[in-house]
Amino acid sequence: MSGFLPDEPSAEVRVSSNFGPRRGPLKPDMIVLHYTGMATGTGAESWLCDPASEVSSHYLVHENGHIVQMVRESDRAWHAGKSSWSGMTDINSCSIGIEVVNPGHSLGYPAFPRRQIGSVIRLCQGISGRHAIAPERVLAHSDIAPGRKVDPGEKFPWAALFAAGIGHLVAPAPIRRGPVLEVGAAGGQVEALQSMLALYGYAVEISGVFDRQTEIVVEAFQRHFRQRRVDGVADRSTVRTLQRLLASLVQ
Ligand SMILES: [Zn+2]
Repeated sequence: MSGFLPDEPSAEVRVSSNFGPRRGPLKPDMIVLHYTGMATGTGAESWLCDPASEVSSHYLVHENGHIVQMVRESDRAWHAGKSSWSGMTDINSCSIGIEVVNPGHSLGYPAFPRRQIGSVIRLCQGISGRHAIAPERVLAHSDIAPGRKVDPGEKFPWAALFAAGIGHLVAPAPIRRGPVLEVGAAGGQVEALQSMLALYGYAVEISGVFDRQTEIVVEAFQRHFRQRRVDGVADRSTVRTLQRLLASLVQ
């Protein structure tokens, strides 16, 4: 394919050869946000279009806010990898992927510029309008691949997106001293925590034992919803934030 009309009117098209047809549901119902994790945005853009990389995303948003579309929204881009949400594992088939240019944790992890986030918001508003994406289906790569991925990370301003009507968020409960659940804990409270995480969509086994996979999922939850402290420890603030999030979902 040499070109196509962008789904997002303000996007520049640079075609990636790394895509295929969506399997099963033909319409996307989820947005997955990533960071590029490479030294430069132009390098990431080239990599996502390079047949040798076997990865792609529908969009890439540069630091200056410039939006590039590489795969049509109707097609299946290759951005999620091994991942899971609400029991669904072929996330590439049900989602639209957005790569936000940022070198990531291993290269200093700078803050996301305001102009860049402005473009991410505009892009998400457009996608949500075209495909009726539910707010709680705008997720981080770390949400759908906990332990394997940490992007777009704890500096990603989900609150700015939420203020613009994108995504699902509640104000995180304040962090205070008190009893916590952490690796080694077991019993009903752990089972309740795991059940709530699973109910929200996270892939976690409900065992009643706070094991390493529970810690990893708690960390992923914090990275998105309680960004001030990401430590895998289910303190009262983490549990309350999760409870509030679930409660706001059923309203
Ligand atoms: Zn990613």
